[in-house]
Amino acid sequence: MLKAPIGILGGTFDPIHIGHLRPAIEARDTLELAEIRLIPNHIPPHRANPFCSSEQRLAMVRLAAAENRHFVVDERELQRDKPSYTIDTLIELRHELPDTPLCFLMGMDSLLSLPSWHRWQELLDYGHLVVSVRPGWQPDYPAEVAQLLARHHTSDARALHRQLAGHIWLADNQPVELSATRLRALLEAGQDTRYLLPESVAHYIDQQGLYRANRR
Ligand code: ATP
Repeated sequence: MLKAPIGILGGTFDPIHIGHLRPAIEARDTLELAEIRLIPNHIPPHRANPFCSSEQRLAMVRLAAAENRHFVVDERELQRDKPSYTIDTLIELRHELPDTPLCFLMGMDSLLSLPSWHRWQELLDYGHLVVSVRPGWQPDYPAEVAQLLARHHTSDARALHRQLAGHIWLADNQPVELSATRLRALLEAGQDTRYLLPESVAHYIDQQGLYRANRR
């Protein structure tokens, strides 16, 4: 008997916002996921990451997670000194949680670019993919993604409970038209960002003076 599936959401979270949180909450409810793991990505210090440090991104993810008992923060990718591929993280989680279906959550933009991911064809050996609607990205699939969907798509939510891996679920979530890029632009312009991110995160950004025009 398998355990209830969990959701996994990796991201830069620079900063975390409702475009990450709302689709994750809806996926949890619809698919009856036991939890959502938020996994902030490692970004190499020498690469273009002008915004905030890993510690600050982690602090914001922790603040967002503290408001919902279903969110769990997983720091594994930040603890390494190099970027992790999603496939490696999924393999690790599969070993740690041998009886738990893993649902890797992503927006439509990520599904469309999946063929550029390292060992992308193996992702479905270790987990399911749960894809959220994201304004700006239509389901015009490149051939490789269309083939993947033809093989793995399911509209039976229980199938994600019955198998450890191998299905793709296309969510019908409330679209949220927001990116961290847009949010940073609003913050930089000194605009009011209320209701676009958790208040605790907005407060932290304000306290730390993050994303302000005069910092750069
Ligand atoms: P940036 O604007 O800095 O590129 P982002 O807002 O796209 O950032 P990421 O941290 O790169 O956020 O995204 C992590 C995951 O969350 C990705 O799978 C992405 O598709 C998904 N995601 C981000 N924003 C949304 C949104 N508004 N709706 C649905 N999915 C989203």
